[in-house]
Amino acid sequence: MLLNPLCPCDSQLNYTDCCGPYVLGKAVAPTAEALMRSRYSAYSKGQVDYLIQTRHPKTRRKDDRQVIADGMKSTCWTGLTILKTQKGTATDHRGTVEFVARYRSKESLVSETNQQIYQLHERSRFIKEEGQWFYVDGDILPPVKLKPQP
Ligand SMILES: [Zn+2]
Repeated sequence: MLLNPLCPCDSQLNYTDCCGPYVLGKAVAPTAEALMRSRYSAYSKGQVDYLIQTRHPKTRRKDDRQVIADGMKSTCWTGLTILKTQKGTATDHRGTVEFVARYRSKESLVSETNQQIYQLHERSRFIKEEGQWFYVDGDILPPVKLKPQP
């Protein structure tokens, strides 16, 4: 199997020029959107530690690691669309990012009957402390109509 060099976050950039440096701890995401994208990429690449590190300490839970790992086992992420960002630039300290992340259940990869693609449509809140953006929490929103995916 060839390793896809493109970043999972659908930026059309190579992973090493996009979310890779953040997920691998070589750089700090400069904006809330960059952090959001990198967290999506971390989900799809199974980087549990990064997801815990970039969640704000005040909303971390004891079972985060287990919940994240379980989610990764059952979910196959298939794409990300950023719908709207508010603040969250390099000079802000707060920001929100509204996005749709698409996924399939891992079972659907081997089953011909369930090919459904699901949506996580969320408005996430981010906060920057000491130069680092953190995911705080988010509101789950109803699914939206997106342009058909190739
Ligand atoms: Zn990316």
